[in-house]
Amino acid sequence: MKRLVVLGGEESGCGSAVLAKVKNLDVFVSDIGTIPEEYRSRLADWDILYEEGQHTEELILSADEIVKSPGIPDSVPIVVAARSLGIPIISEIEFASRYTQAKTVCITGSNGKTTTTTLVYQMLKDAGYNVGVGGNIGESFAYSVATRNYDWYVLELSSFQLDGMFDFRADIALLMNITPDHLDRYDYKMHNYIDSKMRIIRNQGIGDSFIYCADDSTILEELNRYEISSDMLPFSVKRVFEVGGSIVGEDIVCRSDGMEMICDSASLHTKGIHNMYNAMAASLSAMSAGVDATSIINTLKRFTGVEHRLESAGVLDGVEYINDSKATNVDSVWYALESATKPVVWIAGGVDKGNDYTSLYPLVRDKVKVLICMGIDNEKLLSDFAGIAPVIKDTKDLDGAMEEARSLSVSGDVVLLSPACASFDLFKSYEDRGTQFKEWIRKNI
Ligand code: ADP
Repeated sequence: MKRLVVLGGEESGCGSAVLAKVKNLDVFVSDIGTIPEEYRSRLADWDILYEEGQHTEELILSADEIVKSPGIPDSVPIVVAARSLGIPIISEIEFASRYTQAKTVCITGSNGKTTTTTLVYQMLKDAGYNVGVGGNIGESFAYSVATRNYDWYVLELSSFQLDGMFDFRADIALLMNITPDHLDRYDYKMHNYIDSKMRIIRNQGIGDSFIYCADDSTILEELNRYEISSDMLPFSVKRVFEVGGSIVGEDIVCRSDGMEMICDSASLHTKGIHNMYNAMAASLSAMSAGVDATSIINTLKRFTGVEHRLESAGVLDGVEYINDSKATNVDSVWYALESATKPVVWIAGGVDKGNDYTSLYPLVRDKVKVLICMGIDNEKLLSDFAGIAPVIKDTKDLDGAMEEARSLSVSGDVVLLSPACASFDLFKSYEDRGTQFKEWIRKNI
């Protein structure tokens, strides 16, 4: 019996383990940390052997194959040891894709993945498809393959998932953008990260679709390096395509395979250029999956966005508070500031992932009246924005940041939490950071 070891015992790892069990593999789960109760009981329910708080070499290095959860870096000793023994290490998506015939829409990029994945899923669901959503969002793909029977999957794929994918092929692949992120996991080499993102088109062929942003210079450069035989569908806010997605006046226009969809952007709840990109990308994906234009337009008009992404969190003393806690890199903050129409009191900071802030300088000069740094170590923000933001405050926790925001804003301003950094210095997660931000406002209204 084939021995499969799963490294990591949370949503992704636990899902892989259940699927392995269903497929009668000899499966063992190992997690160096504590496995949350929810997953421990799931493993127990499925009678799956596991360990936590350690990686026992004999139990792991006896594997025929390892499924590594995306959160585990390649540099951890047990992964290095497994690799040196030649044990294949794959991602959960690669593993699960072996056991389903369902068609897949696979979405990657530095920003906009969750928003666009949610939107595509909604479009397919509204059109009556038997569709599941997975990858980095909601229930794991592997668990879903083990326990359900969908005809379609919409999968959000991070670069870490893509790194462990070899034979997997997306029927519809969508590349939103490539801007610096997670460089700490890629030896601080942008090209390693780009290569990872480009794996989204791996194994694609005739009859598949590849949807990509044609305003992204990195993507355009990369395309010269690949021979692509899938149907290519570009989208852009600057160029108009015969086949692809474009903005014509106020309209979002998408054309593919003799189909045309035109939707007035003013009728959407989600605003800003980035949401135009997301709407075009999602519409082209749904069209490639065979959804008709009327149904796509109806879904677009209903969609109100995803929590923690430029989410309105309430108005206090005439000041609007916006929760963009999921903005954990520079590019997502660029779009947040770009879409601001009022003077901004900007709250940023946390764990820096190798950020270069220079692209934000023009927008900060133009729109930001106060920068409030919120983090244990604010040195980099304080020095990089000195002379760029008119007023800069150094705070060490959420209460401190919110009190500064309240006292330095006036009616008609907007307080924007868009951190450009990971949350782990002060919060459990970006969700926790956004929830505490909203809770503070709720208590003070
Ligand atoms: P991801 O899953 O790739 O992290 P999300 O949809 O969760 O993307 O959005 C993350 C952040 O990026 C949020 O701050 C959001 O407002 C912003 N964002 C959303 N779509 C885009 C886009 N197409 N380009 C740039 N930033 C975006």
